[in-house]
Amino acid sequence: PTPPDPKPIRRLNETLINKIAAGEIIHRPASALKELLENSLDAGATSIRVTVKEGGLKLLQIQDNGSGIRKSDLPILAERFTTSKLSTFSDLSRITTYGFRGEALASISHVAHLSVVTKTKVDSCAWKASYSDGVLVDAKTGQKAEVRPCAGNDGTLITIEDLFYNTPTRLAALRNPSEEYARILDVITKYAVHNPSVSFSCKKAGSASPDITTASSSDTSTAIRHLYGAAIAKELIHHKLSSNRRVHKSEDEDVDMDGDEDEEELDTPATWTAELYFTNANYQAKKTAFLLFINHRLVESPRMKKAFESSYQNILPKGASPFVYLSLQIDPRSVDVNVHPTKKEVHFLNEDAITETIANAIQENLAKQNHSRTFEYQT
Ligand code: ADP
Ligand code: MG
Repeated sequence: PTPPDPKPIRRLNETLINKIAAGEIIHRPASALKELLENSLDAGATSIRVTVKEGGLKLLQIQDNGSGIRKSDLPILAERFTTSKLSTFSDLSRITTYGFRGEALASISHVAHLSVVTKTKVDSCAWKASYSDGVLVDAKTGQKAEVRPCAGNDGTLITIEDLFYNTPTRLAALRNPSEEYARILDVITKYAVHNPSVSFSCKKAGSASPDITTASSSDTSTAIRHLYGAAIAKELIHHKLSSNRRVHKSEDEDVDMDGDEDEEELDTPATWTAELYFTNANYQAKKTAFLLFINHRLVESPRMKKAFESSYQNILPKGASPFVYLSLQIDPRSVDVNVHPTKKEVHFLNEDAITETIANAIQENLAKQNHSRTFEYQT
């Protein structure tokens, strides 16, 4: 059989390319919100207020009191690959802020109506800009436009309206606004646990009472109690560990009179540190609540989740699940940040070994607790 004639290769038009790229970063309202939260935290905000209409599909608005954006930067704000967080390739390995590629706002401008009101502390008024397909437009006419002065507070207000209005198949896949709202609350709740010194709030537009409010100047345990409830908070184990091993150094001349050897910490900095809050055997949920932050970014790792669940195997009855919050900090140079455009699933050097060490630490702590409890009952 003769092979078919080759089909001509055509260049996709730019609008389509941009929409495809945007769809890889912004899957749903909650993924847009995650990008905005990270931007606000990067900007040093201590107060973040979110307002939502129809699960974020109609309106997603976020007001922060961070640094604001300079007026002169507004014209290129929503262009692809414009960022204040990365300028050279070697920066890539040192990056510690959340986002770094300048793609979030650009993506949003391709699949929604985006507008920004922002004021830095040296500005005498706020500036408003609206964007479509990466460029400044007039919000009403959609024609090219300029930045306009307006009233506003220090910080930044980002408004996203009609998300996915121009990508009907995506929109059709998100039929349930209350499910989308639940996902939004979930993202905010997790960031609020991880940032107890920042005050968060989230409400539906027109509603008088917010569904989430946290005070600033809280601490992690208080935040977990407030957001996840006392049933979890009263059964929490707090544990810290790092890659630093303690070494015993015995130098003859340094031996104390009583013969003790000096214990000294290695000089090399830890390549990773982990802080954990996890429930003991008294808490039993139907589904695992797993909060994972790597270098302060909310990420997913089904492998870690599975490993930690198995730490509970001998502690919890079948079908019962724990709450685990892990904040892992690793040398930014060992994180492969390029893995996925959403930066949601990260991979890092020695992932398996680190996971195992942490899973073992959880298991040991649980065993210790269980043991002392059994002991208590016996006496
Ligand atoms: P990235 O965060 O990867 O740089 P974004 O598209 O998310 O890309 O944002 C582009 C730039 O806009 C950021 O680098 C930052 O300078 C600015 N920016 C976005 N949101 C805020 C905010 N809430 N406060 C201050 N600056 C912001
Ligand atoms: Mg960003």
